[in-house]
Amino acid sequence: MRTPRRRATSRTQHYLRYKEYARAVVHVKLAYWNQLYGFRWRRVAIRNQRTCWGSCSSAKNLNFNYKIAFLPARLQDYLIVHELCHLKEFNHSPAFWALVARALPHWPQLKRELDRYSFAGRSLTPARHHAGALRRAWLSYLPAPYPGPRVVRRVRKIPARAGVRGAKRGHAARRRR
Ligand SMILES: [Zn+2]
Repeated sequence: MRTPRRRATSRTQHYLRYKEYARAVVHVKLAYWNQLYGFRWRRVAIRNQRTCWGSCSSAKNLNFNYKIAFLPARLQDYLIVHELCHLKEFNHSPAFWALVARALPHWPQLKRELDRYSFAGRSLTPARHHAGALRRAWLSYLPAPYPGPRVVRRVRKIPARAGVRGAKRGHAARRRR
């Protein structure tokens, strides 16, 4: 049985607006960091999750929260490397963290910083106790909207002189009447 389709909320609209931008960020960074690891994954999904930044399934599918697009680059790198390393170490063992450290030796600092972006209420927002400063920081991370494929508009060329003269004549004719 189909459930009636809900009207898109502003939260959904935000997700739809930035999803492909987030996907581009994820793919570029996965390719970059995987030069070091050489792992293989199957699919990458960009989701609008409420309580998760990213995950790696046992079927080697990677999932990322679209809000990765709003994080500073160093935290995007941390998330990408973290999920990449789960392709080899499906846990948070010392072996896993050693793998992360190959790319990001200062990972504990990055992990701590990411923890400050907690899931308050139903959406992924800065923790309430940091509300003021972090909210401002959060907003400053907003990237420019992904422009999408370039649309080239055809501009109809009007011979400049003929057009101007014609318009003037028309204008004068109207005035004369
Ligand atoms: Zn993990």
